Amino acid sequence: MTVPTRDAAAALDAADPLRRLRDAFALREGLMYLDGNSLGALPRATAARIADTVTREWGEGLITSWVDADWVGAPRRIGDKIARLLGATPGEVIVADSTSVNLFKALTAALSLRPGRSVILSERGNFPTDLYMMQGIAAFSGGRIRVEAVDADAVLDRLGDDVAVLLLTQVHYKSGRMRDMAAVTRRAHERGVLTVWDLSHSAGAVPVDLNGAGADFAVGCGYKFLNGGPGAPAFVYVAARHQGAAVPVLSGWFGHAAPFAFEDDYRPAAGIERFLCGTPPVLGLAALECGVDLMAQADMGEVRAKSVALGDLFVQAMDARCAGMGFTLVSPRDARSRGSHVSYAHAHGYEIIQAAKARGLIGDFRAPDILRFGLTPLYLRHVDMLDAVEVIRDICVTRAWDRPEYRERAAVT
Ligand SMILES: *Cc1c(COP(=O)(O)O)cnc(C)c1O
Repeated sequence: MTVPTRDAAAALDAADPLRRLRDAFALREGLMYLDGNSLGALPRATAARIADTVTREWGEGLITSWVDADWVGAPRRIGDKIARLLGATPGEVIVADSTSVNLFKALTAALSLRPGRSVILSERGNFPTDLYMMQGIAAFSGGRIRVEAVDADAVLDRLGDDVAVLLLTQVHYKSGRMRDMAAVTRRAHERGVLTVWDLSHSAGAVPVDLNGAGADFAVGCGYKFLNGGPGAPAFVYVAARHQGAAVPVLSGWFGHAAPFAFEDDYRPAAGIERFLCGTPPVLGLAALECGVDLMAQADMGEVRAKSVALGDLFVQAMDARCAGMGFTLVSPRDARSRGSHVSYAHAHGYEIIQAAKARGLIGDFRAPDILRFGLTPLYLRHVDMLDAVEVIRDICVTRAWDRPEYRERAAVT
C-alpha cells in the first residue's frame, strides 16, 4: 500500500470532525507532540480556571468556597463526567488520590468481597506500579494474600477457585495491546473472580463500556488522555452492585458517612464517596475538570476512528520510510487490538528519542528498548504522523542519534 502524500494527509485533516478541538490546546507551532499518553497537552482554558480558583475562590472566598464554589462536590461531579466517558453510571466513579493509591483501594475492596480466596492475579510485564501495589498488599497480609503474575497469554487459564481478583491494564502501556474487557470479565466471573481494570491508557483514548462489560472495579489517570495536568488526581470506578459491601481499607474521614459529624468510629459512606480518603486536591481538580470537559465535547466514536487512522498511517509510513533501519513494531498491526499508541523496539531507542526531541518530535522511551508514540486524536493531525516519520528517518540516515549527550539517561524518560 502506498503512503498518502502530505497533501493527501492535509486533506484528511481539513475534513476531520475533531479538527476544531486542536485549537482548544496550547501547542507551540512546529511541535510534534506524540507523548500525550504520558502527559496530555495543556487546554487553553486551564490557566484562567486555575487563576480564578486561586484568586477568587481561594483568595476571596476562603473556606466558604468549600460549599459556595462546590469544592467539596468536585470529586463526585468530575467523577460523574468521567463515568460518561467510560460507560459507567453517575455515582460509580469518583476522583481521588493517584492511580497507584486507587489500585490499593480497588484491590483491597475486591479482596474484602472474596474472603475465602488468596490470590491476586495479573500479567508479567504489567505497569510496574500495578505489580508493586499487589506486592505491597501481599507483604502486609502476613501470608494470607499471594501475588501471581503470569505470561500475558496464560492469564485466562490461571483463573481458578483460589483467585480473588484479576488486575489487568486494558491497553498495555508498552505494547499498546488492547484486551477485550467484556470477554475477559466474563471468563473471570465464570470462575468467581472479580476484575480490576487499569484504564490509564484507555480513558479518553478508546471507547470503554464498563457497565456493558460487567466490570467490577477500575482505576485510571487524569493526566494522560484526559489532559488534567501534571500529577492530576486519578479516578476509581466501583460497580454500583459492589458499593454497599466493598470495605474501604483506606478509611479516611472524607469517606465517612458523615465527615462533619466528627464521630470517633468509622462508618463508610453509602455510595462511591466511601472511596474518598482525605481532603480533595482542589487546584488539581480544577485543572482536571478543564481537560475532562474538553474530552466530553468529542464523540468517542470519532475519537476512536481518528486514533485508528493515525496509528495505521504512522505504521504505514514507518514501513515505507524506515524499513531496514532496525525498527521492530511491537504494537499489534491490526488496529482492532491496538489502543492509542504505537511502539517500536530499536537497539538505539533511547538515543533516537533524545535526537528527535531536539527536532521538535516528542515521543518517549520505555526500557529496555521501546520507542513509544502516543496518538491523541483531540490535537494531533494526520500530517504530524508523516512529519514525525520523516524526522525519525532523517535521524537514522544521518546517524544524528550517535552523540554522547544522547546516551546519558535522564531521571524521567
Ligand atoms: C501511567 C500509569 C499509571 C500511573 O500511576 P500513578 O499512580 O499516577 O503514578 C498506573 N498504571 C498504568 C497502567 C499506567 O499507564
